[in-house]
Amino acid sequence: MAEQMGIPENPESPDSELESCVICDEALDGIQETSCQQCGGKFHQPWSQDSTVPQCGRIGSHEDALAIVFLCDDCYYGRRP
Ligand SMILES: [Zn+2]
Ligand SMILES: [Zn+2]
Repeated sequence: MAEQMGIPENPESPDSELESCVICDEALDGIQETSCQQCGGKFHQPWSQDSTVPQCGRIGSHEDALAIVFLCDDCYYGRRP
């Protein structure tokens, strides 16, 4: 009996332009994401309360510009070297 071996699919789809979160390394959906003002890395940002995506960054205020900026958790907590 020839048993069919399950060939694992390549998890990295070459057609995918989706990036992964710099904080949790999960795939971003291209919508509920934003980029960090400090390091430029993209991370999860849920735009609605019933969203299932994690919040991997924080909203901070930029003192000079009096604007709201997004920071990833690493930058927010100063974990980046
Ligand atoms: Zn994330
Ligand atoms: Zn950052």
